[in-house]
Amino acid sequence: MSHVVPVPRATGVPDQLSALCGAVLRRGETEWLSTLRGMPCERCLTVASRQAAAEVLRPAG
Ligand SMILES: [Zn+2]
Repeated sequence: MSHVVPVPRATGVPDQLSALCGAVLRRGETEWLSTLRGMPCERCLTVASRQAAAEVLRPAG
């Protein structure tokens, strides 16, 4: 399952990451993918598309 994870602001390798869908991914159980591969998590894609739409529709100023 491929989740979408925001890049953490902290430096170093965190013990766990939170995906957009709420899934907690622990170090050693995850793999970084530089491109879209595998079965995408539909909940992550839904949240990511809503966030992208909000960015596009944000009023200028
Ligand atoms: Zn997900």
